[in-house]
Amino acid sequence: MINVVADVEVSGGHWIGGERVASAATFDDVSPIDEAVIARISRGGATEAHAAVSAAAASSPAWASTPPTERARLLHRVADIVEDRLERLAIVETIDNGALLRSHLRGVMPRVAHNFRFFADYLVNDLHHPDFETRGHHNHVSWDPSGVAVLITPWNAPLMLATWKVAPALAAGCTVVLKPAEWTPLTASLLADITKDAGIPDGVFNVVQGLGEEVGDALTGDPRVSRISFTGSVPTARLIARSAAANLTPCSFELGGKSPFIVFADADMDSAVANAVEQYDNAGQVCLAGVRLLVEDAVLDEFVERFLARAAAVRQGDPRDLATDVGPQISREHFERVDGFVRRAVTAGAEALLGGGPNEQLGGLYYRPTLLAGAAPGAEILTDEVFGPVLTVQSFSTEDEAIAMANGTEFGLAGVLFTGDRARAERVSAQLVAGTMWVNCFFVRDLRAPFGGSRHSGVGREGGTWSFDFYCDVKNTCTNVDRWTT
Ligand code: ADP
Repeated sequence: MINVVADVEVSGGHWIGGERVASAATFDDVSPIDEAVIARISRGGATEAHAAVSAAAASSPAWASTPPTERARLLHRVADIVEDRLERLAIVETIDNGALLRSHLRGVMPRVAHNFRFFADYLVNDLHHPDFETRGHHNHVSWDPSGVAVLITPWNAPLMLATWKVAPALAAGCTVVLKPAEWTPLTASLLADITKDAGIPDGVFNVVQGLGEEVGDALTGDPRVSRISFTGSVPTARLIARSAAANLTPCSFELGGKSPFIVFADADMDSAVANAVEQYDNAGQVCLAGVRLLVEDAVLDEFVERFLARAAAVRQGDPRDLATDVGPQISREHFERVDGFVRRAVTAGAEALLGGGPNEQLGGLYYRPTLLAGAAPGAEILTDEVFGPVLTVQSFSTEDEAIAMANGTEFGLAGVLFTGDRARAERVSAQLVAGTMWVNCFFVRDLRAPFGGSRHSGVGREGGTWSFDFYCDVKNTCTNVDRWTT
């Protein structure tokens, strides 16, 4: 089953044990750009899930015992091919998920290659195997591959978020079954071709396509699976945790957010405003986005005025156009959900200072960048994740009030803080519940740093050593050094 998207051939089949496998049933893949059907994709179920885990389990011992330097060499080869095919990956991803071609070309796809290079190099150069001496005994810590990793990924940054899991899992010596989101199945399929061409052995990397609720349980409840890493919504995480509980399979969850973006009166206002407007990037479909603008009341009017002036220059349109800043929402269902949040907020008394509805000129799934003011404390628009181009603005008068407002949701993914006062930055950062704090910046991401969420924003951390900690069975071998006879 071959689809052609922007002149690129993309298989609609699964990738299991080094072979393309088709299901009798299929589902349509729709582009958010114009809601056209762009591909037909195999609709996997328990049979395909089982086959993929079997292939991954069968290839696990050989991959686990492949020397780290050889695993690293193969991952660099994957990165080389990603770089060779960068334009193809970028355009297919843009048509599939509606995110900007400009971002895919300049930032995202180079980063995909970097994901593989980083974890390959980290494995070889940076992963420490500590040794401890204890009263005549020697302790040695090793990182043993845990087995089969099931990786379930979302649609908002499909290949970027998939490879952010695939690369460390493969580096750690796990074999992988990747289940991409059904709204964006294409680049996972292209990644399968890339791993084949890179020489990754058959069965080490597998892809199962399908609807989460149909294929999910069979993957997450399989006793042969040693790790589950999932990025997506809180309700789905609960289902996966329940399914994984039967086998006590460790899970890593990266979930939603409702992150605060705090601006103190002493902040560099140009930078604060520029970064605030950037929260519309990817049409607001970013779990990390600082969507609650909390502004010290002394500068509220100035901030809002400058924000609106800058936001007026944001160009919405076809994401293939390199001049576009904000594209469409991922799907009709998601678009209606975003609109529902905005309508209910306005009915409840909030005022749209910007946007507030669909972009009627563009039609389709284009939702106007929106800024809402005046929402009542506790309103759902201030507590629930919208995942669209919708920001709220509120004011505060004291540091303590800002901290209380910032921490006032069930989430704890990220916090963004703008202030010129270093002591204040340290005080406030220390008190915010967040896996990542960005102080006077946003979205700077070093792969050595831990990444994840607190509260309902996630379970566990990945990145650098934390990724190996998750994908490996960490073993300590304690040896009495006086008992050798040979
Ligand atoms: P969203 O609401 O943002 O689409 P989801 O959590 O529903 O997020 O989806 C994220 C990923 O989880 C997708 O790959 C989807 O197919 C998968 N998924 C959905 N339901 C399940 C499930 N019950 N078990 C496993 N994976 C699932």
